[in-house]
Amino acid sequence: MHFVSTKSTSHHFTFTESLNLSMAPDGGLIVPEKFPHFDINNLPRSGAPLAQLAEAWLTPFFKGDTLQSKLSDICKAAFNFPIPLTKLDERASLLELFHGPTCAFKDVGARFLAECLTRVNSEEKTILVATSGDTGGAVAAAFHKRPNLKVWILFPKGKVSLRQELQLTTWGDNISAFSVKGDFDDCQRVVKEAFSKPQLKNRYGLISANSINLGRLLPQAVYYAASSLAYANGGKETPGFIIPSGNLGNATAALWAKRTGMPIGQIVIAHNANRAVANFFQTGNWNPMKTIATIANAMDVGNPSNFERVRHLYPSLDEMKKEITVFSFDDDQIRKSIRDAFDRWGRAVCPHTAAAVAAWEQLSKGNWILVATAHPAKFENIVEPIIGEEKIPIPPALAAILSRQSKAVELEPTLESFEKAIQEENK
Ligand SMILES: *Cc1c(COP(=O)(O)O)cnc(C)c1O
Repeated sequence: MHFVSTKSTSHHFTFTESLNLSMAPDGGLIVPEKFPHFDINNLPRSGAPLAQLAEAWLTPFFKGDTLQSKLSDICKAAFNFPIPLTKLDERASLLELFHGPTCAFKDVGARFLAECLTRVNSEEKTILVATSGDTGGAVAAAFHKRPNLKVWILFPKGKVSLRQELQLTTWGDNISAFSVKGDFDDCQRVVKEAFSKPQLKNRYGLISANSINLGRLLPQAVYYAASSLAYANGGKETPGFIIPSGNLGNATAALWAKRTGMPIGQIVIAHNANRAVANFFQTGNWNPMKTIATIANAMDVGNPSNFERVRHLYPSLDEMKKEITVFSFDDDQIRKSIRDAFDRWGRAVCPHTAAAVAAWEQLSKGNWILVATAHPAKFENIVEPIIGEEKIPIPPALAAILSRQSKAVELEPTLESFEKAIQEENK
């Protein structure tokens, strides 16, 4: 199995090469050259451990790779927390992706990436990650105390929730957090500049843990495969997925799962007020925008990098529209949907998941799986006032972090400032 760049198919990469490269050398993103097609009757039955389905679904992608013989162990170690699909009512189920160590779906990809890198690299590598809130915490938790692997996290100062910030800044050991005076776009730009400077990239062995890295994205397709199979239960009902989206990694993973023959209907992308993709669907013009800060902060992305991977799947916008529907909601609509979900189903949902609820309210009939991307207790300052007196119980993983000591190095939003800081760190 080979992977290629979205920009040209002349170079082939294995899975492990793709991990270490993060991006194709021509500046494109790495995607499967073609998709395997599964006969769903040959996949593990619904009810089998998730790690077993993960191994079966991922096996063709690892064919011929140096990690092929280790895939089974990687899946057992990475898929070790529950991902329940719960029924809300006749038309809606909730895929709860927030039962991992940092209570957001990014734990899945981050843990898989960490298990892979632990098994391939002998020399020291540095994971460099820009985060709008949840990625950095998931990556820190997944890589904490892993030998020969360091993590540098850049987050926008004052623009993440307090509980998110603690998940970024309280690890110590091999994890360093940098608070950037700017927004997520600034963090992403500094990270990109670092990657494009060969002398930095080579000296520290930089690897990206953002969803541009195939190793984070591909394992996310597993929970779409598993939940669609469980829902369809022998092929009667094909669910559509409603996915709260920012950088479009999660939506890309769903589209990839669909390409392999999983019983998946329409993919609905629910954005917050950052409308680049919604505008593209209306006008056909791709105009990335400056990021707008919203209460669903992990989706505050003005220029979603994985849109390139989505586009690569379709010859035209019309073809794209046959499989994908896009919505965008402002903060007031998101607040209203937090209230609606609580009134209708008695469920507290995080502001990101609320965007999926808002989209569901606009869709007509059908079988929908709403993707719950984070635990509401991570955003208690937004959710609790909206749903009333109710105190949202804090999951133990989150509670443990709240009592630890926080430490971050402050940065100007420039590569120069970042380079100075890492020189200090490495003295
Ligand atoms: C990262 C994140 C998103 C957006 O996911 P993408 O893959 O970037 O589209 C949505 N919700 C939460 C809670 C997140 O952490």
